[in-house]
Amino acid sequence: MQPMLEPGSTIGILGGGQLGAMFTGAARRMGYRVAVWDPDPDAPTHRVADQSFSTPFANSDTRERFVDVVQAITLEWENIPAELCEWLEQRRPLRPASAVLRILQDRLTQKQFLSSCSLPVPDFAEVQSVDQLLQATRRLGFPLICKTARSGYDGKGQWLFRQPSDISQFERILNTQASGVRWIAEQFVAFVRELSVLVVRSGRGETYVYPVVENRHEQGILRESRVPASVSPSDAEAACELSLRAVAALHGIGIFCVELFQTQDGRLLINEIAPRPHNSGHYTLDACTVSQFEQQVRVTCGLPLGEVRLLSPAVMVNLLGDEVTAVMSADGCLETFSTPGASVHLYGKRVIRPGRKMGHVTFTAPEVETAVVSAEQFMLRLQRPHSTSPFQQ
Ligand code: AMP
Repeated sequence: MQPMLEPGSTIGILGGGQLGAMFTGAARRMGYRVAVWDPDPDAPTHRVADQSFSTPFANSDTRERFVDVVQAITLEWENIPAELCEWLEQRRPLRPASAVLRILQDRLTQKQFLSSCSLPVPDFAEVQSVDQLLQATRRLGFPLICKTARSGYDGKGQWLFRQPSDISQFERILNTQASGVRWIAEQFVAFVRELSVLVVRSGRGETYVYPVVENRHEQGILRESRVPASVSPSDAEAACELSLRAVAALHGIGIFCVELFQTQDGRLLINEIAPRPHNSGHYTLDACTVSQFEQQVRVTCGLPLGEVRLLSPAVMVNLLGDEVTAVMSADGCLETFSTPGASVHLYGKRVIRPGRKMGHVTFTAPEVETAVVSAEQFMLRLQRPHSTSPFQQ
């Protein structure tokens, strides 16, 4: 078993986005120091960590310096080069392990792995050419989603083909890609709901599952998450059980988010597994006994996991692109901060881009319906014209 890392030690985190910054907040509260490595000098975690490294991940000097200052390592982004993770893991405990990352950082390998374990996923096919796409359409039909096997997020690197005439687009897309790029073609699932489940597993043999969350996306980006999800107790149990089985199949040690589709006929299909805290789990900061980030600290340091209990129903709304200015103006502050149960989280990103996650607001209330109304009123305010943006566009 991994020895326990005591408070005062330094945890390394690979990737320095908002997930890393929220992790750092939890770690520092628990008495740990944090060293972050993210090649982007503007990444939010650099502002809050004790030590920062901002060279490319391929830099071998930084690799040596980073491993010298940390006693255990975790990550907030699944696309960290697996070779770097393997090198680091030979020297320090790394949670999750590089073998798990290798499976999850490629959508095709991930789906092949899950189906080889008899875990339900949407029907899929590997695609590297127009011919293979045409073959896939014969089996999977239309509409069809095509995703790059690697590196896509928030709907980036994804194309929806609705009818045979759309296939010619794929030829154009292929021409813009480097050779050898692999794609996964997936049957378009006409889901009734998108759900997600956080699972945390420690090297001490403990496992906890968080309540099922219901998610709504807009253009592939998470818009809002609500908990508890509006599913029956037996469906919630089935979602938790499936998520636990998936993480156990990976032998995953760490915090994982299992994203699911629920279909009209009540089936659950795994869309994707993230080996890290997840946007749909941000509500745990304000509405649970222990947040997803605190669990990440605990599992990385070999501490006992925290007992998971939902303290309040919650709805989380993402602040995308310049919507953040609606919260940062004086009027916006007044309205948002005076809403009962509203908890504002701003990530401090300097540059605003359409769809970029700039912050989130979680609404808690004794009944989920009340939190839903607060969130809906808030989203209406987000659509009003905002004051001039204080950010670079
Ligand atoms: P992903 O990056 O794979 O999580 O996809 C982002 C979002 O696109 C998902 O949350 C869904 O809303 C949608 N999506 C992805 N794959 C499918 C699919 N096979 N069928 C229907 N919608 C999908």
